[in-house]
Amino acid sequence: MTQVLSVVSECAPLVKTGGLADVAGALPLALMDHGVRMRTLVPGYPQVIQRTDKAKVILSLPDLFGGDARILAANVGGLDLLILEAAHLYNRAGNIYLAPSGKDWPDNPERFAALCWVAAFIAMNGIDGWRPDILHGHDWQAGLMTEYLTAMGGTGQVGTVMTIHNIAFHGIADPSKLDKLRLNPARFTQDGFEFWGKISALKAGLMAADRLTTVSPTYAEELMTDQFGMGFDGVMRFRRDDLSGILNGIDTDTWNPATDPNIQTYKTPRGKAKATAALRDELGLPQADGPLCVVVSRLTEQKGLDLLLEALPTLLHRGGQLALLGSGSAQLEAAYKEAGKHPNVAVRIGYDEPLSHRMMAGGDAILVPSRFEPCGLTQLYGLRYGTIPCVALTGGLADTVINASPMALASGVATGVQFSPVTVGSLHNALNRLCDLYADSGTWERMQRNAMAQAVDWGPSAARYAALYRDILTKA
Ligand code: ADP
Repeated sequence: MTQVLSVVSECAPLVKTGGLADVAGALPLALMDHGVRMRTLVPGYPQVIQRTDKAKVILSLPDLFGGDARILAANVGGLDLLILEAAHLYNRAGNIYLAPSGKDWPDNPERFAALCWVAAFIAMNGIDGWRPDILHGHDWQAGLMTEYLTAMGGTGQVGTVMTIHNIAFHGIADPSKLDKLRLNPARFTQDGFEFWGKISALKAGLMAADRLTTVSPTYAEELMTDQFGMGFDGVMRFRRDDLSGILNGIDTDTWNPATDPNIQTYKTPRGKAKATAALRDELGLPQADGPLCVVVSRLTEQKGLDLLLEALPTLLHRGGQLALLGSGSAQLEAAYKEAGKHPNVAVRIGYDEPLSHRMMAGGDAILVPSRFEPCGLTQLYGLRYGTIPCVALTGGLADTVINASPMALASGVATGVQFSPVTVGSLHNALNRLCDLYADSGTWERMQRNAMAQAVDWGPSAARYAALYRDILTKA
């Protein structure tokens, strides 16, 4: 059995701001069938501590980056958790990354450096009678684990994997923090964690981990380009032989239209009509001739939802409707609230998991016009619920949707609509295509059946992660 410690800043169902948490929560369970025991090290935010009242204290760590800390062990919904309880770092109300001002917590470098330091400590000293063979870190918050592992003499003893869920976040800190972050100043170089004169926790992990993965094959290729690499394309090209793209899956029990307790369940595209009627009722939308399009998303520049605002008249003109659930940038929230005044547009600002299920079930189509999208989960939920994805041709959106091209339609394999480049003009064309397809009920139903039949579970990808771990260990 391969023993792996997953090092991550959020993990569903305990604490979630995006897809990273879904992956962190689902992967350990999926790996059980593949000879891997994965434990998960997470920060002890209030929402984590509250959900784990039966946690057992297994180690005390005096003076961890400015205060006392403890490691707790707990099991939540089958997840084998190690929780880093450190009140001075994590016991704060509100967003886990952002202060009430909307800016990063000023001590984010220390908060996640501490997580990495503890990961390395566990790898070197063991805990609870257990030692991992592999440390598997996610995004910049786990990037410094390789530095501490090296400093503790662990090079070659413990394998390391870094997964990039989103390269937009670099984990930057000022070099004046070198000492405070317990980093070796000799490694503050181009070959180490120096990035344009600053410390980058992400770069540390990307340079030093044995293997790198990202969450789709297309994003793996994109990361090596100037357009998508966000300053790391050189690093990614340098590490190309150690990089693989492994698609995310989804939890097909939580996201199952036949059993979902949040919706009027259905097994076939035809059965979906009840869920659509219920969603229209709930959101106060009238009957319509065109498709009811849904969006469930963070409202940020990445997601391209500013483009959707501009292309919205096209959809409405064709008799379509829009229902959006999201939160994020104040500007986009305000603009969508304004758009929501139209009788065929319903906007819900906030984060609402049950409503996201009802939207997924009730929508005819799900729109994901992202400028970049490492994998994307909502198009996968859409496929599972027979809710046709209309997506930008980028990252995981390119890998998971089969565009309704004339050829794909002729051979009956299409599952959605893709558009490129990510501009208002091509989104406008995509919405027109979507409406044309919707108007042809035979074709639409065929696409829905294909979508619902597509495998979106974790099985194949969990097998690939397990093989990756084994590969590292045989080469060690
Ligand atoms: P990202 O990680 O970039 O936000 P993903 O598509 O990978 O994008 O994952 C987003 C996850 O967060 C999905 O599970 C989606 O359903 C969920 N989500 C996003 N916004 C909301 C919201 N307002 N309410 C409920 N769930 C949301």
